[in-house]
Amino acid sequence: MNKSPLYILKHVFGYDKFRGEQEAIINNVINGENTFVLMPTGGGKSLCYQIPALVLAGLAIIISPLIALMQDQVSALRLSGVKVATINSNISRKEVWQIKDAMKNNKLDLLYVAPERLLMDEFLELLSSVPISLFAIDEAHCVSQWGHDFRPEYIELGKLADKFPKVPRIALTATADTPTRKDIIQKLRLENGKTFVAGFDRPNINYAIAIAQNPKKQLLEFIKKHHNKETGIVYCLSRKKTEEITDYLKQEGLNVLMYHAGMESDERTRNLKRFLEEENIIMVATVAFGMGIDKPDVRFVVHVNIPKNIESYYQETGRAGRDGLPSNAVMFYGLGDIAIQRSFIENSNAPENQKRIERQKLNYLLGLCEATSCRRQILLEYFGDRCEPCNNCDTCINKPETFDGTIIAQKAISCVYRTNQMFGIMYLIDVLMGVDNQRIKNFRHDKISVYAIGKEFSRQEWLNIFRQLVSRNLLMVDMIGHGALKITDRGMQFLKEKETIELGKYTKRAKIKNKAENKQEIQDQIKLLKIETQKEKDLLALLKLKRLEIAKAQKVPPYVVFHDKTLVEMIKVKPMSIDEISEITGIGEAKIKRYGQVFLDVLLNYFNAN
Ligand code: ADP
Ligand code: ZN
Repeated sequence: MNKSPLYILKHVFGYDKFRGEQEAIINNVINGENTFVLMPTGGGKSLCYQIPALVLAGLAIIISPLIALMQDQVSALRLSGVKVATINSNISRKEVWQIKDAMKNNKLDLLYVAPERLLMDEFLELLSSVPISLFAIDEAHCVSQWGHDFRPEYIELGKLADKFPKVPRIALTATADTPTRKDIIQKLRLENGKTFVAGFDRPNINYAIAIAQNPKKQLLEFIKKHHNKETGIVYCLSRKKTEEITDYLKQEGLNVLMYHAGMESDERTRNLKRFLEEENIIMVATVAFGMGIDKPDVRFVVHVNIPKNIESYYQETGRAGRDGLPSNAVMFYGLGDIAIQRSFIENSNAPENQKRIERQKLNYLLGLCEATSCRRQILLEYFGDRCEPCNNCDTCINKPETFDGTIIAQKAISCVYRTNQMFGIMYLIDVLMGVDNQRIKNFRHDKISVYAIGKEFSRQEWLNIFRQLVSRNLLMVDMIGHGALKITDRGMQFLKEKETIELGKYTKRAKIKNKAENKQEIQDQIKLLKIETQKEKDLLALLKLKRLEIAKAQKVPPYVVFHDKTLVEMIKVKPMSIDEISEITGIGEAKIKRYGQVFLDVLLNYFNAN
């Protein structure tokens, strides 16, 4: 038998213990079983196949949809002393030759390939002539049309079951609700395997959702207050919005990049590269900026529009805080967003049953947005996981007030009804507030029963009420009818059956608070890893400089050399010898050999001089 998984975890990757289900998953693969892993973004999926690949004899084939993703993993593994290569369209013919040679001579432990390459007959033939330890299918949701990153070539991967019946296959994804999950398992032929749904909680991320009042300003305030000179991602719904926000933040003097599908591919690649390599940088992007952003020190993810559904939201926000340090996920959303997302669904060419699923998904997301209870509980519940009220989300920290909105909802919906479902929200509010204007007189709406029956609320309060009725699907915004509000079937039912409804109270300014998590473990970590004194800051800057120098020489992003967390630990632990530095998280043996002395010198010099 080879080295144990724990041995490899410690010596190659420099980590002390497995996280959550990692060990069970790794053992399942080592035992030759098929495996399906559902783990949140940043949960630690890579080790689930990397470690078995190093334990088992033979070559592990890792299938991944994105070149950038493969490239990063390969660079990182190489620095950790792993024998690994990737074949993709960026690799020269000569290199491909060399790699194939290495494969034949058992000189590789892992090979990363794109699915279309793997499925070429010639390549499959080559694979049948070398011992294969396992197949890992990363981003496995790409196989499902229900998911959001469908890749037709992924479907063909089911073939591996027939071609290599004895080789264990492990598929991994961060996104999958129950129907998608079933779809993936079936398409990849993993029915006889074991499924692991591993802790969906990302306790170091603080979730907050606020009404968009002036989203640009809200965004800027949030960044300035909580994330000055830190790295983050800002997600927008459209290219236009992306450009707008980029310009705005640039004008405000922030270090900003942009990414959307309408840009030249060269420029996109350049921006992605800069984002991965630089520090203190903000990427403003559409969802095209997605898979494979493994940067560990993203401190915040902001949605300035409502995302598509909870899965997208969780995946996108999951890009924050992969290193486990405290991070923020903030969403600003408004009535317009809801209408746009609904019209995306209605106007798509999808079959009716898929539209139905998407409507449900959107409604669940809106439920999250309007929630008055712990956001994390709602998120986890969606993925079949659970937790106690977390005290690390806005609704836990600042419990929203609610009131019995039954009567007021009836008034609002009646007003839509009495005006024949032909008017927009501002007009409806005018009628309810009894505004005296010519337009209302022309339509004789000053004579109807709902005129002036809502004077007790301000315009802002009314907007808040209407938004909640729309997000609960009692009313809908008709995009074709110039934003006229219409009553949904649910809304009619609400009126007929005299249901009651609880609404959230209007608050003047949606504030984002950033409070540390109360879980002891995280709190200890925060305390332990907080760089506070000027001395510590200076030393961190020196360590980062050294890291940058190495990264440039190796042509890899700095975090591939060491994560921030590892540098911070160096400062806190104050190692005096190579032995002591090797105890630090994230420093495996290869890295000790390569960089141990270099960093130790920086530390010792500094400690001696100060
Ligand atoms: P995923 O692919 O699930 O999004 P990764 O595999 O990139 O996540 O892991 C996220 C981060 O967690 C990485 O920085 C990784 O090094 C770290 N990590 C994974 N497993 C462990 C562990 N057992 N102990 C400490 N850090 C870990
Ligand atoms: Zn909470």
